[in-house]
Amino acid sequence: MTKHNNFGSRRIYYNNFASHLLNAYNPNMLYPELPNRWSDEDWRRCIDMIASFGFNAFEFWLVPRLFCREGIKSELGQEFIRQMNMLIDYAHTRNVEVMALISLATVGTDWHTFCPNVKEEWNEVRNLWDAWTKALLGLDIVSIFPGDPGACSRNGCTAETYIDKSIEIAHLIKRNIPDAEIEFGTWGPPFFGWGLLEGSKGWKGEFVQEDQHTAWRFDKERTERCMNHLLKRLPDFPDPTSIAINLGFNPDGTPDGDQSTIYWANEIAKTHRINSWDFSLTEGENAIIPHFRFERLFEQRKRERLAAPYNGGISYTMTPLLNQLSLYESAQSFLNPDGDYIEIAETFCEKLFGCAGKELVPYLELFEVIPDWGNHVIVDMPKEEYHQKMIELVDLLQSLTPVHRDDFPIHPSPEVWLHEHLFFAKLFRDLSGLSPDFDSLHEQYWNHVYAIYDKLPTHVDPRPKNATNTIINYFRGLTDKPGFIPGKWSK
Ligand SMILES: [Zn+2]
Repeated sequence: MTKHNNFGSRRIYYNNFASHLLNAYNPNMLYPELPNRWSDEDWRRCIDMIASFGFNAFEFWLVPRLFCREGIKSELGQEFIRQMNMLIDYAHTRNVEVMALISLATVGTDWHTFCPNVKEEWNEVRNLWDAWTKALLGLDIVSIFPGDPGACSRNGCTAETYIDKSIEIAHLIKRNIPDAEIEFGTWGPPFFGWGLLEGSKGWKGEFVQEDQHTAWRFDKERTERCMNHLLKRLPDFPDPTSIAINLGFNPDGTPDGDQSTIYWANEIAKTHRINSWDFSLTEGENAIIPHFRFERLFEQRKRERLAAPYNGGISYTMTPLLNQLSLYESAQSFLNPDGDYIEIAETFCEKLFGCAGKELVPYLELFEVIPDWGNHVIVDMPKEEYHQKMIELVDLLQSLTPVHRDDFPIHPSPEVWLHEHLFFAKLFRDLSGLSPDFDSLHEQYWNHVYAIYDKLPTHVDPRPKNATNTIINYFRGLTDKPGFIPGKWSK
């Protein structure tokens, strides 16, 4: 038996539609009265698309806004349950498994983390896991993750507490869904925040943006202690359990020095399947633009294949209505890690627009000019040349005619793909021009992408505002270092 027999056999489309990641390209599953809601038909066409791309699992985060008493009982929660059960049934007809990702103990709209060492709080957490798994009995996989947001370091809680309490919850899940696979997440430096997160005096587990960076401190001794604890307790997880572990205990999954996970991944893989959970690869969580980070994506897949017997992993998106190419490339990166990402992009564009579509490919990487989490693309050219290229891209897009192919379902249609890419090409053309009206372009971008936040109270996570500023400020020449988004950068 070769070590890499099963590489890429689980290919997960992970759509994060949490309340801090709302935008025009993401389904709004949380505010029925606001725009961007998806009909059942939207979901079915999305499943058709990802199945044809090569995905065999669909993952969603059961966000804290839903993971609470009000969340499950409300009209919103009941409609969410109805639609998710519809989606589960439909996905199964396309051989796509469905997995729910749930933070161990983070609850409610205000992302409050309950403490496993406080009896009433832990009882409430157990009740919520029980109620939600009973509501979604068709789930194939239930993934427990440490937080982000969330995690506890009150009352003596550590990473070991997270591991022990996750085992307890895993058995609870299996009582309700006996056939479910458990996935256990090591996400973070590792086990995001547990025993690390520092709150100010009187902190009772509520989410505080300013404190989030403390969850990302890497500590070699802590890592060894808690990873050894995980190894020791692996046999106590119910069968089957797989472990999500990236190549590095850092946001970009980089296996450098003490932060490399390769030893641990191999130790775990002796008895349990492992998957990566690297969402820096496709989109990161900030800049909403058409993405093209495929050189690193394929390099990282090859590193994973070499490093440990990885079974598969996620392809993260918060913009499924914009970044279909990124999802296609990501599915292909599992199926064919040695593939040529340029050729794969050409195939994609040809399927949408015929042979002329292939001419788009050299331009698409230019959108990755924004310094951002997970973006390692270097666009190095004079601004005048960049501006000229964007003028050419606008012309090219305007000359294309969409093709519809039954064997390559795209959701939404190729017409919408064209329309949205034209929006970004014109925006980046104007931002790189001689004397842009930055304020008006800022407004134009915000209204196109993030208008939904104008109708919501200020969110606990200021990400949409920061991400918009990062894009505009880059062209203003104000950004001289990678965009700092609170809670994501460890330095
Ligand atoms: Zn605690």
